[in-house]
Amino acid sequence: MIRTKSEIDKMRKAGKVVAEIMSEVRAAIKPGVTTKALDSIAREVISRRGATSNFLNYPGARGPFPAVICASPNDMIVHGIPGSYVLKDGDIISIDCGAIVEGYHGDAAFTAPVGHVSPLATKLIEVTEKSLWAGIDQLVRGNHLYEVGREIQKVAEKAGFSVVREYVGHAIGTQMHEEPQVPNYWPGHKGPKLQVGNVFAIEPMVNVGGPETKTLSDGWSVVTQDGKLSAHFEHTIAITDSGPEVLTQIDI
Ligand code: MG
Ligand code: MG
Repeated sequence: MIRTKSEIDKMRKAGKVVAEIMSEVRAAIKPGVTTKALDSIAREVISRRGATSNFLNYPGARGPFPAVICASPNDMIVHGIPGSYVLKDGDIISIDCGAIVEGYHGDAAFTAPVGHVSPLATKLIEVTEKSLWAGIDQLVRGNHLYEVGREIQKVAEKAGFSVVREYVGHAIGTQMHEEPQVPNYWPGHKGPKLQVGNVFAIEPMVNVGGPETKTLSDGWSVVTQDGKLSAHFEHTIAITDSGPEVLTQIDI
């Protein structure tokens, strides 16, 4: 899908709200805080900005998602439901969040350390974020979409980590999840050619151990099969004449 300049302008507004959610939630992450408290902070930003949530009531196999963020600690990859879990020193926590403004969506995620974390956890967070930016660098006119996953995979595997296959990035616009999907690995061919006006949510999920996943009995929480740590970073990015524009950064 090619978005017009005015559509991308609306996505910039949604992206700014998402950036603000990430900034406020990140600032609140510390030992002793519940993931439900982080969700409350995100709800407050969404309400203050007159936005709506694209996460709340998102349909799932065991019922709608009950929160405006996903909060996924440690070996949880994505889709954790905020609740009574209390963050403790040494945890890592992945926060995924989004917002809708004037009918257009933003979507982003980050993983943060809680207090003092292990060197391995620090490396995982750094490598996953680096892999996101390596993917974003591929979002230029004339390049091909699956170059994104090829670069993400290179960065993750060079560090000795693995990339999740079952969950992927996506185009985004008037829906949060639009076609085409964006794998975080090389699927064997280059995929569609990128054009100015394409907008994607790029979101590597990187595991310390193997890439295999399993879903818990709540129907949402996705964890690593081997119980090892996982991290997740995401931005919403528009392809412009002058290259990729990250819409979900706070400084735009
Ligand atoms: Mg997301
Ligand atoms: Mg997404």
